Amino acid sequence: MPRFSVSRPSSLREAVERLSSGEGVYPIAGGTALIPLIKKGLLEVRELVDLSSVRELGAIRREDGRVFVGGMVTHSELVDAAPWGMRNVLRDFLRNHTSPHVMNLATVGGSVASSTSSEDLLPVLLAADAEVVLAGRDGDHSVSLEDYLARRDSFRAEMVEGVRVRYVWDGWRFSFSKLSVSVRRMPAFCVVVGARVSDQTVEDCRVAVAFADGLRPGRLRDVEDAVRGKRVDAVRAADVEDAVRRSIRPAGDVHFPSEYRRKVTSRVTALMLSEVLGA
Ligand SMILES: Cc1cc2nc3c(=O)[nH]c(=O)nc-3n(C[C@H](O)[C@H](O)[C@H](O)COP(=O)(O)OP(=O)(O)OC[C@H]3O[C@@H](n4cnc5c(N)ncnc54)[C@H](O)[C@@H]3O)c2cc1C
Repeated sequence: MPRFSVSRPSSLREAVERLSSGEGVYPIAGGTALIPLIKKGLLEVRELVDLSSVRELGAIRREDGRVFVGGMVTHSELVDAAPWGMRNVLRDFLRNHTSPHVMNLATVGGSVASSTSSEDLLPVLLAADAEVVLAGRDGDHSVSLEDYLARRDSFRAEMVEGVRVRYVWDGWRFSFSKLSVSVRRMPAFCVVVGARVSDQTVEDCRVAVAFADGLRPGRLRDVEDAVRGKRVDAVRAADVEDAVRRSIRPAGDVHFPSEYRRKVTSRVTALMLSEVLGA
């Protein structure tokens, strides 16, 4: 390992100050993504800001129909607490985690800040209408997770204090699906789909995928709009598949070329939607 200093702030304000103190300063949460990058020489680090003593980042609390989950809450703690009404999705997220050791270390803030397709938590959070709470020198503010992912570089100087997600999902059915062939590789796909049906009509729905544009996860609003308000028996799987195909431009790699990812994501999303609609 190269040499660097480590600071251990005890408050969020102190952490933000350290982060703003110049080039080469990075927060470290679980370290599962950051340490390999440093070891491989892919990141030049002058100082790591260890977030483990920042109490504000460990909180999970209800706030007006939403729930706040602090940036240092681990993937395992999140699923144990199952703090909002999508328990089956959280359980399947954990069941599909490639590494039991990693899920005890990896954090919500680390997943959000990493902002890439290997973070299975991101489609889950996108489907849960998450907003990201950011703390910077000028104070706190929130942006939708979609906006955060689209403009990731604009938020480099800010800390992910946590995420806020919608708490109540009465009457909704959700489904999570992922295919991964190796711990070290990007998954082939990861999809979260949800819908609320009333009188055989799709009242509302959510479609979120790991590979929406390159390596950026995203919510497929065009697909949601095409389905919302339709009678269940009028939602054709072939049309959904086609709509997903037109909405995504996934990155490819040696295991899963872009066109393969596009095909499999479209097909799986259509099947998952049929399942949650009970069609
Ligand atoms: C073997 C292995 C298997 C894995 N399997 C899966 C899997 O199945 N599913 C899955 O979703 N993920 C998986 N991952 C990915 C891993 O879980 C994530 O990369 C992890 O969520 C990152 O969280 P962390 O707390 O370890 O972040 P760190 O490594 O500490 O940090 C990651 C990045 O986020 C920044 N950061 C961290 N916290 C904050 C904050 N609060 N504010 C601002 N920036 C911050 C850091 O500076 C760094 O740039 C796996 C990783 C490994 C090594």
